[in-house]
Amino acid sequence: MRTFDDLIKPSVRRLQAYTLTPHRVPIKLNQNENPFGIPPAIVAETLRRVAGRDWARYPDFVPTELQTALARFAGWQADGVVVGNGSNEIIQALLTILVAPGTPVVLSEPTFTVYRLMVEVLGGTVVNVPPRADFSYDIPAMLEAAHRTRAVAVILCSPNNPTGVTVDEPALRAFLTDFDGFVVVDEAYHEFCQQNFVPLLSDFPRLVVLRTFSKAMAMAGLRIGYGLMAPELATELGKAKLPYNVNFFSLAAAQVAVEMYADELRPLVERIIHERARVSAAMASFDRFRLLPSQANFHLLHTPHIPPRHLFEALLAWGVLIRDVSRYPLLGEYVRFNIGTPEENDALLAALQAIHPEAA
Ligand code: PMP
Repeated sequence: MRTFDDLIKPSVRRLQAYTLTPHRVPIKLNQNENPFGIPPAIVAETLRRVAGRDWARYPDFVPTELQTALARFAGWQADGVVVGNGSNEIIQALLTILVAPGTPVVLSEPTFTVYRLMVEVLGGTVVNVPPRADFSYDIPAMLEAAHRTRAVAVILCSPNNPTGVTVDEPALRAFLTDFDGFVVVDEAYHEFCQQNFVPLLSDFPRLVVLRTFSKAMAMAGLRIGYGLMAPELATELGKAKLPYNVNFFSLAAAQVAVEMYADELRPLVERIIHERARVSAAMASFDRFRLLPSQANFHLLHTPHIPPRHLFEALLAWGVLIRDVSRYPLLGEYVRFNIGTPEENDALLAALQAIHPEAA
């Protein structure tokens, strides 16, 4: 009789699943969400549009209306837009069509953990090129590794989760010019730094830009993301993506969010950027912790005197939930938190000031 070990791929059997322990706390700063919530005007208009839809019917096979809206919103062509059930699904579909057992993919860890997880589920090989001491991408080393291993793709997250660093445009251009594999730039947090590599798509058909509605767009619960890419690649990706992957409610909400972005969401993004500056100015005077600069809606906090797990627990007792990232490579002395509402940020600042190494 065969056991699970005989049946399940060894590349999967030895993996640790992506998990997150739920905590019910008043102040939730652990998942880089929009703390202001979804604007009521977007909810009302979405409900108006879906009212009367027949739940017995499938959503559109190809969500052309949203693809067209996203193309206009992002500045690309509609046949190069792929909509996914979160950008996680786009990452999964893309890697599914690129990675066979042993296929190398270049990453720079610490970065978003789903990249490694998906490459390894598919039996591929992660070629990890650590960042420099300040966590900036070591682009020459990544390029060298990509050439040496004949990698199929490199994934650059910009701003990077969890370090907040960005890849600069000359470096990205160098990569796109010198490397003949795919260059995936995950722009999940681009609204917070105004960086946008979409204009490069027309010159570089191996560039893929990933976006999500889970952060600035305040719709993490509805699971929408999208990829912008060469139409030829979009066609191939469509073979690995599940049919009807996004439900009509989420499609409608995304459509409304794009239409109302300037009036309803951009002001929230601006408030988050403003709060980011305020929090980082306030934390500059802390002597027990050091805040790392960030271009995203979250920060790494260096905690050399209080172990990250203790700090996490101590903040939890104050009703503040952050992320202990100390198990990530190079981040043994770090935690991550996202920018909240002004009141939430004040609570975090007060708690950090009150927590002492002896008490934590
Ligand atoms: N990319 C990055 C860099 C992220 O941080 C996240 C969410 N934490 C995602 C992608 C996944 O986003 P989605 O909710 O659209 O699947």
